[in-house]
Amino acid sequence: VKVEERLFQNRYLVDAGRPHIRIKPHTEPSKALMALTHLCPAGCYSQNDKGQVEAVVDGCVECGTCRVLTAKTGEVEWNYPRGGFGVLFKFG
Ligand code: SF4
Repeated sequence: VKVEERLFQNRYLVDAGRPHIRIKPHTEPSKALMALTHLCPAGCYSQNDKGQVEAVVDGCVECGTCRVLTAKTGEVEWNYPRGGFGVLFKFG
């Protein structure tokens, strides 16, 4: 089974207006933020037309990659979703 097919099995409850991950405002994205546009397994990170990196965290699987990658710089504010929200894994 492909990773995409496995991800499709998950369900996600969006906590509207309260994203659990926020990127600090920036003009030029760092290498770490740019890397996340390729590394996030759920494709949450992308570059906008101004060159800044944005995160749409609906579908985040809480893998922690972005948290670890930006741990030293603090560019990403990362919290677990509130109880009941976020990813619901169907298969372990
Ligand atoms: Fe993507 Fe993982 Fe960060 Fe969620 S925790 S936004 S899935 S890299």
